[in-house]
Amino acid sequence: MSTEHANRTNVRGIGVSPGRAAGPVAQLAGAIDPPPQGERLAEDADVEAAAESIATHAAAVADQLNTLAESAEGEAAEILTTTAQMAADPTLVKAAQAKVRDQRTSPALAVWEAADAVAEQLGSLGGYMAERARDVRDVRDRVVASLQDLPMPGIPQREEPFVLVALDLAPADTALLDPAKVRAIVTTEGGPTSHTAILARSLGIPAVVGASGAVEVLEEGRMVLVDGAAGTAVLDPTPEEVTAAEALAAQVRTFDGHGRTSDGKHIQLLANVGEPAGAGKAAEAGAEGVGLFRTEFCFLDRAEEPSIAEQVKEYRRVLAAFPGKKVVVRTLDAGADKPMPFLTDTAEPNPSLGVRGLRTSWRNPKILDNQLTAIAEAAAAESADVWVMAPMVATVAETEEFVAACAKHGLNTAGVMVEVPSAALMSGPILARAAFASIGTNDLTQYTMAADRLLGSLASLSDAFHPAVLRMVEETCRGGDQQSRPVGVCGEAAADPAIAVVLVGLGVSSLSMSPRSLADVAAVLAATSLQRCQELARLALGAESAEQARALVRGQLPVLDELGL
Ligand code: PEP
Ligand code: MG
Repeated sequence: MSTEHANRTNVRGIGVSPGRAAGPVAQLAGAIDPPPQGERLAEDADVEAAAESIATHAAAVADQLNTLAESAEGEAAEILTTTAQMAADPTLVKAAQAKVRDQRTSPALAVWEAADAVAEQLGSLGGYMAERARDVRDVRDRVVASLQDLPMPGIPQREEPFVLVALDLAPADTALLDPAKVRAIVTTEGGPTSHTAILARSLGIPAVVGASGAVEVLEEGRMVLVDGAAGTAVLDPTPEEVTAAEALAAQVRTFDGHGRTSDGKHIQLLANVGEPAGAGKAAEAGAEGVGLFRTEFCFLDRAEEPSIAEQVKEYRRVLAAFPGKKVVVRTLDAGADKPMPFLTDTAEPNPSLGVRGLRTSWRNPKILDNQLTAIAEAAAAESADVWVMAPMVATVAETEEFVAACAKHGLNTAGVMVEVPSAALMSGPILARAAFASIGTNDLTQYTMAADRLLGSLASLSDAFHPAVLRMVEETCRGGDQQSRPVGVCGEAAADPAIAVVLVGLGVSSLSMSPRSLADVAAVLAATSLQRCQELARLALGAESAEQARALVRGQLPVLDELGL
């Protein structure tokens, strides 16, 4: 970024999804407050007109949603159509109108109360019906917003593309993000491992999180230029700046399937896969294999563990996408942000430090044993080179037990994730037992900095560029070197090209990331020699803060600016 540009920065945060894009600001409207309890029509109000206004506004909401559905695609279009149908359904309107006519309830309160009654009924039915309760509340909020002439809640729906500015995005909001409409995202809260960051990266939308003052400074409708790598937003960019940003965004980079430094050192570039459908996309993006197959998808939202046969079927879908290639399957990582009622104690006061990851197998060894049976069966049926690793390993003894459990199933490439500082510091003896280590920088950062990775207010501490985290990586690589065992990184840090070269300089031999990031990381790596990576690693290790480490490294990597990263 030029100095002139940098001087004009209006908002600064953490760049979590690279790319530059400009557009008018659209702010995420806040939640709709319930109308005051007991709100009644005025003495001289026209009751019939008030009742009718409910039908008019519900119909307007349904029309608006249908129009939006027409310009949306896939899941977003489906969600919008379903919500439109609910808004058009006369049941809710009639129930609300009855309250106006019989009790002189205000139209907004009548809609609120009638919708809540329907939502509660649906909720008590459980399962699919209970999920619809959220949709009814969404319709409620929209009709009430329309009646009160307030902005529509949720992701703004516009004909033209925009830059989304919000305090934070809820997972339900992010599901509706349409990359064709949302040019960039800026949030006040959230960290590099927040939902917003992970989703923005997977959709390829430039994003800046943890940008204090964003909602106040980036006013509705003003043009803004966002740099999702540098973590900046500039108001009223010049037409030249916008053209340059758009030209960079139009460049399509591809990955040739062979990660390497400029002097030819092979660094495996692998994909993180969260569900079988993602494996095909990862293969198409040129991934050299899978560095992290998160198996939780198979277990989430279940009352009981899935059968071995079901697990085999799902695991085979991922292995089949990578014939002859490496696929690292992670055993179940239950607990903390992924509670599983059949396995984890949701009443734990401190779930991140509780019985999670591999620790759940202490009390429930059978679930791990069944999963290893399923992985071994899937591996035998496919030709992928299957590696297995356990999450949240903290000790040498746990490593020994896990490696032995894998060996019992004929799974001989058994490794550990390094996510806990104790494992990083004990990597020598741990890697004397395990075949490999894969560093989970999301949790390793959380535990090194003692900062909950989900808390937006601690976003500034949740940064893998912090020299303390980098020293943990250095220590892990030292252990790997001693034992001649490969050490990779599969946390979100691997997807940030500036940290990626530092990780390579520290000694990691593979980087696993969202498939969308492969081409960017490959391009920066291909422009940087191994010796340069090592120099940059020393520079970062010598810094005193994450900000300083990032600035020092980025300042020495002009290729980032050239590629708009
Ligand atoms: C990590 O902690 O970095 C990791 C890859 O695991 P997860 O994000 O699934 O906890
Ligand atoms: Mg983790």
